[in-house]
Amino acid sequence: MQGRGNPALHNTEKKMNCPKCNTELVKKYYKGMIEVDSCPNCRGMWLDSLELDKLEDMVFNDDAHKGSLVHFQSKTDHPCPHCGASLDEFQYRLYDLKLDYCAEHDHGFWLDAGEDERVMTFMRQRSVNIQRKVDAESTWRQTLKEMHSFLRKRK
Ligand SMILES: [Zn+2]
Ligand SMILES: [Zn+2]
Repeated sequence: MQGRGNPALHNTEKKMNCPKCNTELVKKYYKGMIEVDSCPNCRGMWLDSLELDKLEDMVFNDDAHKGSLVHFQSKTDHPCPHCGASLDEFQYRLYDLKLDYCAEHDHGFWLDAGEDERVMTFMRQRSVNIQRKVDAESTWRQTLKEMHSFLRKRK
């Protein structure tokens, strides 16, 4: 839209900077699922769409979630590490989780430090409550995949 962010320049090997504090991101393998780019300074992390696609497929009940997953969407001043376009902020209803998403080119999304742990703690408590052996990591993995599918479909 604003002439920034040429997808032709997209290159996964190039250096990326933190959208929040501009520190150079470092690759990290996250919870045995996917490679993420994490910020050594503010400890947030970038989840790449390409990496999210590698997460195992899941049964995703579209109708149950349609329109209910996201509270709001608004533009932020934070640049996508890939293309520099302003990220959109979303709030994921179920866990009160905020994330920043590259709505322009679907490059992925950004999680602030501790957001994922907060959600995982919530999931662990919930699985205790319902007396079911649900692994918090796999529930979280599903959540990431679900959020990504959902955001992608909004286009
Ligand atoms: Zn940072
Ligand atoms: Zn982008």
